[in-house]
Amino acid sequence: MNSENILEVKHLTKHFKAAKKQVVHAVDDVTFSIARGKTLGLVGESGCGKSTCARTVIRMYDVTDGQIFLDGTEITRMSQKELKPFRKKMQMIFQDPYASLNARMTVRDIIAEPLLAHRIVKNKAEANDLVYSMLERVGLTKEHAGRYAHEFSGGQRQRVGIARALILKPELVICDEPISALDVSIQAQVINLLKDYQDEQGVSYLFIAHDLSMVRYVSDDVGVMYLGQLVEISEADEIYKNPLHPYTKGLLGSIPIANPKLARLKVKSSIEGDIPSPIQPPSGCRFHTRCPYAKPECAEKTPKLTDAGNGHRVACHLY
Ligand code: SF4
Repeated sequence: MNSENILEVKHLTKHFKAAKKQVVHAVDDVTFSIARGKTLGLVGESGCGKSTCARTVIRMYDVTDGQIFLDGTEITRMSQKELKPFRKKMQMIFQDPYASLNARMTVRDIIAEPLLAHRIVKNKAEANDLVYSMLERVGLTKEHAGRYAHEFSGGQRQRVGIARALILKPELVICDEPISALDVSIQAQVINLLKDYQDEQGVSYLFIAHDLSMVRYVSDDVGVMYLGQLVEISEADEIYKNPLHPYTKGLLGSIPIANPKLARLKVKSSIEGDIPSPIQPPSGCRFHTRCPYAKPECAEKTPKLTDAGNGHRVACHLY
């Protein structure tokens, strides 16, 4: 493990059992790392496994195979009790702050709860000062502390979710589509808040999003997932300037479109067809059923993630 990395994920695999003894291949053999104080954006269409990957990393799900190292310690198969001290270091911000915040608790109690659970404070009174200063840090005020989640706008609720995640001063925050449910005008405010906090505290982020434009401003590195696999990963600037994988090109809207009707529509994502089922993913390269460059070997041989130069890694037989 490289000591500069807060997180290292090696060959992570997460399968779920489905009906009739079928298996959902949600995440297959995914490897990446996040350096301290940096952000990895993880991108892909809905159903590509990015959220499952994030939830497996934070150990909301048990791992099927592979390894997870947090700050140099392997946490892959720790029990929930063994994990407790590591939970302080790794927190999560959810997509839907309304569903993730307890409707019966005041904002004060929601934010104080992790402080009490980890015995950082002895009682609620002791937590108050920390809660008030965190509310101010996320752009709310002390006066908001006595209110309930339903009394807030979507953007304010997400600020409460962020305050709850940051109150323990974690070293890694997993942001699971934290701006997707917000109005466009609010998205930039939340992104700026997360970025400013990173500049101040040196926290690292794993930032999940469904399109590449959302992670452009926040990410140092970007990884692209397709049907449970990481198909491309590189420094962010490089991936936007020089996307290699046909799927990444499609997400960026720069792939040639075979269907003239779709081409005329100039849709942002120019990938045709739906993502196949993760229960029986296509053989070989999982993207071959939608790839305009697919050749016969693509259906037979699985491409490995290979360095195409400058640490830019891609899984495609074209490289
Ligand atoms: Fe397309 Fe083949 Fe590359 Fe897969 S391996 S992305 S099918 S060219």
